[in-house]
Order: sequence, then structure tokens, then C-alpha cells
Amino acid sequence: MNCRKAINEISNYLDGDLDAELRETIQVHLDKCHHCHAVFDTTRKTIELYCDGKLFELPTDVRLRLHEALRRKLCSTPR
Ligand SMILES: [Zn+2]
Repeated sequence: MNCRKAINEISNYLDGDLDAELRETIQVHLDKCHHCHAVFDTTRKTIELYCDGKLFELPTDVRLRLHEALRRKLCSTPR
């Protein structure tokens, strides 16, 4: 598990779309990698913010654009 892969799977992770083994792998990475954990936290909070108190879920295309923006931001950040 590297950071790029972890970031790519964060949306699936939040959606609960991953099998148990992959979830575990990502969880372990998030626990030890502050960088990915920050991205994970931001993504989760943003989604919760959209959904909180609303009668609708964040539309898939909006969520995908959000994740795409986060990925671009990550890729352009020197490590
Ligand atoms: Zn990482």
C-alpha cells in the first residue's frame, strides 16, 4: 500500500465498497501516514458537511469531482 493507492481507495473506503482485507490495509496505512489521514479526514468531513441535516446525499458526480480535486492537489504536492 502506497499513498497514491490509498488516496485512490479513500472514496471507496468511505462508501464501504471495499472488501474486508483492503479496508484493513487502508486502515493500517491511514493510522501510520499523517498525509493520507489528513486527506481522508478532509474528504469525510466534507461529505458529512454536505449530508448533515440535508434530505439528499451528495450527488455522485459532485463527490467524484471532489475526490478528483483532492487527488490533483495531492499529486502536485512535493513529498
Ligand atoms: Zn500515505
